[in-house]
Amino acid sequence: MAKILIVEDNALNIKLFCDLLAAHGHEPEAVTDSRNALDAAHQFSPDLVITDIQLPHVSGLELIRMIRDDEQLSAIPIMAVTAYSTTEDEERIRGAGAQAYVSKPISVMRFAQTVEDLLKDHGSHDLIAQVDVQANESEDSPGPGETGGEES
Ligand code: MN
Repeated sequence: MAKILIVEDNALNIKLFCDLLAAHGHEPEAVTDSRNALDAAHQFSPDLVITDIQLPHVSGLELIRMIRDDEQLSAIPIMAVTAYSTTEDEERIRGAGAQAYVSKPISVMRFAQTVEDLLKDHGSHDLIAQVDVQANESEDSPGPGETGGEES
């Protein structure tokens, strides 16, 4: 179980994200006003932050930079959720300091998989970390012609 902070101004998306994360055994906490997001992050100490990019007051890009500049929060992985989809936008999001982004309307599978990947990379969960080690071992000794499953 991971604590996940959601910053999103759309109530339907909040419900969707919270339901999805709870169904995967996580503990979601939502903030609708991005001006409260940094305080909420300090109080909640999330393992992962999921933020919308198009937010009033403090944009998702600003928020990502603020988290990255915060001594206590800078190591927390960030996943951006955005209606933007050009390569340039993705570069701006990653440049601000997000590890991943998922475009809206979200694919439920991709959303859940990206969350698990980010938590796994962060190494905060023993069970998931063990699965990660096994996956890495097979990568270390490449088998003949095995390239693994590519998503289409
Ligand atoms: Mn929004």
